[in-house]
Amino acid sequence: MSSELRELYQTVILDHYKKPRNFGRPEGADHMAEGRNPLCGDHVKVYVRLDDGKLAAVGFEGSGCAISTASASIMTQAVQGRTRAEFDALFARFHDAVTGRNASPDALASLGKLEVLAGVREFPARVKCATLAWHALGAALDGSPEPVSTE
Ligand code: ZN
Repeated sequence: MSSELRELYQTVILDHYKKPRNFGRPEGADHMAEGRNPLCGDHVKVYVRLDDGKLAAVGFEGSGCAISTASASIMTQAVQGRTRAEFDALFARFHDAVTGRNASPDALASLGKLEVLAGVREFPARVKCATLAWHALGAALDGSPEPVSTE
């Protein structure tokens, strides 16, 4: 990765960290789940309103590191309007990218804005930060009443 690109990604991550998008509980939210990453101290609550099988509104609250907050913020934008199956497919691709299982240029390009987080694959300890909100959203969609943990 070029240093210019790395800097750009860093800038986008910090922007989402300082000004998280869709922060708070969306009106009419009907699913919620909590996620904790004790290794880093990240804590997130993810809310979603399902409408006709689609993720009509997604929001989050909580506090955590720049990676976990930016991932939650960008996720809420990336999954907007998608079906459950589309969310699962996107999470699978995102997971492959941040763990380095599949970080080919095509795979990264298919992630859109989420690509800025793919550099996490060089820091395995941060993978849990990057995927925390995703696990929580999955749990919320499953209707799980229990808080999810990355442990
Ligand atoms: Zn973290």
